[in-house]
Amino acid sequence: MSEYGLLCRTFMENMMIIDLVCKMEIDEEAASYSLNYDGKDYFFCSEGCMEEFTRRPLDYVESV
Ligand SMILES: [Zn+2]
Repeated sequence: MSEYGLLCRTFMENMMIIDLVCKMEIDEEAASYSLNYDGKDYFFCSEGCMEEFTRRPLDYVESV
């Protein structure tokens, strides 16, 4: 397994969610804005962040 894969799994296990647009940490239960993109679920703190993501998803997905 690559280092990236390992990091990714740790990330999933911690259930820590980051809003990719504003980089804010959000609670999964409080994340009412979610979106499925390229087979993955993404969560956002607000509708504005979600809209920004849908406008230019590649800018955010690749920065992770
Ligand atoms: Zn946000």
